[in-house]
Amino acid sequence: MVKWTVRIFGALVLVLGFLFWWLFLSGSTASKTAPGVFDLADWRSKASAPADQLPTALRILEIGRDTAPPFAAQAGRFGAPVAMSYNATVIDYPDRQIVIGGAVDRPTAEGMALSRTEWRFSDTAYDEMTTAMLSAEQVLMTHEHLDHVMAIARHPDPDALAPNLVLNRPQIDALPLFADGELAPVLTALPSGLTGDVETIAPGLVVVPAAGHTPGSQMIFITLQNGEEILLIGDIVWNMGAIEALKTRPVLTQYMVFRPNYEDRAAIKQQVRALHDMMADNPDLTVLPAHDRDWLIASAETDGIEFQAVE
Ligand SMILES: [Zn+2]
Ligand SMILES: [Zn+2]
Repeated sequence: MVKWTVRIFGALVLVLGFLFWWLFLSGSTASKTAPGVFDLADWRSKASAPADQLPTALRILEIGRDTAPPFAAQAGRFGAPVAMSYNATVIDYPDRQIVIGGAVDRPTAEGMALSRTEWRFSDTAYDEMTTAMLSAEQVLMTHEHLDHVMAIARHPDPDALAPNLVLNRPQIDALPLFADGELAPVLTALPSGLTGDVETIAPGLVVVPAAGHTPGSQMIFITLQNGEEILLIGDIVWNMGAIEALKTRPVLTQYMVFRPNYEDRAAIKQQVRALHDMMADNPDLTVLPAHDRDWLIASAETDGIEFQAVE
């Protein structure tokens, strides 16, 4: 009897050990190399323009915040929770603005809430974002996920917003998933404003397709008038520690968080390696992930970057 108890206990430990390894640790190390995945020299040449035409500043407009468990954000990371920001980015030109990202609306933020003490949502900031989208020359997003798309899919004035939208095909196709009921008719028939290749959409502003996290994921490379170079990487990683440690999110997050379960992990592993190496070679490049709140706050020390926090 004791022998059987020991055997069953041993088998259970093995199964649980395997599950732990698979969900939290396995398949999450970045590629050893990532030749040709990203081409910063190409983006730089596409972003070049006379200085007086370049954007002057970039403002991260925080709509809400929360914390996430470290092991869900970065495989093998345990310890303190990761501070998460939900935001949009407003790029200022001398005579106009471009908005990147639609963040979350209140019902979505409430549905996603994780921390009783750290969760916040600002209705004022949300209104500021939806208003800025109407006067903006262009409105883009990094990717089609619920925490990046809601002020587009659920905008209070879709007819006025639609002419400003510059989305890629997978992003447009995903919009009905995020509507509150029926998607506004004007948003169902949007033309794709992007080619699917690396392209300049305004002076100093280059869209870099980076399918992986979602099919429509893209990065935005920005050159400011003061010479600062900024790369918005969306959700390729949630926290910059992952790039430093050359890790992706764990398998657990793939199955528990993403709806649908699409994340091309092979592509993300290459992208994490490519970003890691690019940052090592270009220490002055400012890389901004969508959610890493501590990193975003620290980056706002850089001339031309502002972080407008939800207190
Ligand atoms: Zn995402
Ligand atoms: Zn996100």
